[in-house]
Amino acid sequence: MKICYNEKLKKLSPYLFIEIDKKKKEAIERGADIISLGVGDPDLPTPKHIIKSMQEAVTRSENHQYPFGAGLLSYRKAVAEWYKKRFNVDLSADEVCALIGSKEGIGHMHLGFINPGDVVLIPEPGYPVYNTGTIFTEGVPYFMPLLEKNDFLPDLGAIPSDILKKAKLIFINYPNNPTAAVAPKEFYLELIEFAKKNNIIVAADAAYSEIYYDENEKPSSFLEFFGAKEIGVEFHSLSKTYNMTGWRIGWVCGNKDVVAGIAKVKDNYDSGVFQAVQEAAITALTSSQKCVEDARKMYKERRDALVEGLQKLDWKVNLPKASFYVWAKVPEGYTSSQVVAKLLDEAAIICTPGNGMGKSGEGYVRFALTVNVPRIKEAIARISKIKW
Ligand SMILES: *Cc1c(COP(=O)(O)O)cnc(C)c1O
Repeated sequence: MKICYNEKLKKLSPYLFIEIDKKKKEAIERGADIISLGVGDPDLPTPKHIIKSMQEAVTRSENHQYPFGAGLLSYRKAVAEWYKKRFNVDLSADEVCALIGSKEGIGHMHLGFINPGDVVLIPEPGYPVYNTGTIFTEGVPYFMPLLEKNDFLPDLGAIPSDILKKAKLIFINYPNNPTAAVAPKEFYLELIEFAKKNNIIVAADAAYSEIYYDENEKPSSFLEFFGAKEIGVEFHSLSKTYNMTGWRIGWVCGNKDVVAGIAKVKDNYDSGVFQAVQEAAITALTSSQKCVEDARKMYKERRDALVEGLQKLDWKVNLPKASFYVWAKVPEGYTSSQVVAKLLDEAAIICTPGNGMGKSGEGYVRFALTVNVPRIKEAIARISKIKW
């Protein structure tokens, strides 16, 4: 039998990434000593106190049944407390919904709000999931370029009025993957006014809010700003903050009716987050945050090693203020894909081509700070031997 795939699924073939993965596997087979700066997945284990909490929770039989619904009240309260402490934002329990990782909620959100033909405003380069949900709901993506000359912020004023009339949803993501940009207060104020005026729901993805490098310049939450809760929600995740990518837990919070729409979709698709994982997440959010401070210090050392190393080799790269990515301009005369291929073939280094995350990423590569300082120094030493 010939299997016929859904037309929308066919639109999603990540050609470039498949090619990179194939090349990576070939290099490993050849015995190359690969330094992987490609995928944004923390290399360190989940902190011990969180694992211990999970071990205890998993033994209790009340946690073995379907969790159902928006998450444990205790989990949603822990999220609310964390928001109050970190951002001085007030949330009630019905303004929070647990997610099976924020990717799950980001990808499913469209099902609650997008009808065929509705426009979704999506930053590019960006996290591919904003568009995935758009395609599956037969929405129309409108890509907002994130350009260096605009500090990698979308130019909301440049969106044509016929697009705005059909737009229902806008995604934003700061600290940003892949550009590592942080949004200033003025941007959030402009965004809130824009969304209110055009009746567009804001979905802010704050997965990297805790990976920052300067205590005096902590990234903001979209929900900190006046009027935000009237028009939008924020997605958050334990993945990057607590090295918990494999655990699959996050949340969405903010506007009660938007949260309810997402929760209703989820009620019909999944049966909630394993309660033992929710309990471990409560431990993560409510106990000492020293593990997060330590992670920040570690990423900072890695960031400095990579950025200083690249700058010495005359690469044009800015020192990121947040996220664990370094967004580097490629050497002149090369495309993103050519540089990725050259780094792999001649230095056994994996990185992500900027254009793989959107066409405005052409001319950049993204390095993830997910290997230790000695390996980063080794990567720099290898890059220094490449002839351009
Ligand atoms: C990693 C990441 C997420 C978080 O994914 P989880 O599903 O919570 O693990 C969300 N948004 C962006 C931009 C990311 O890079």
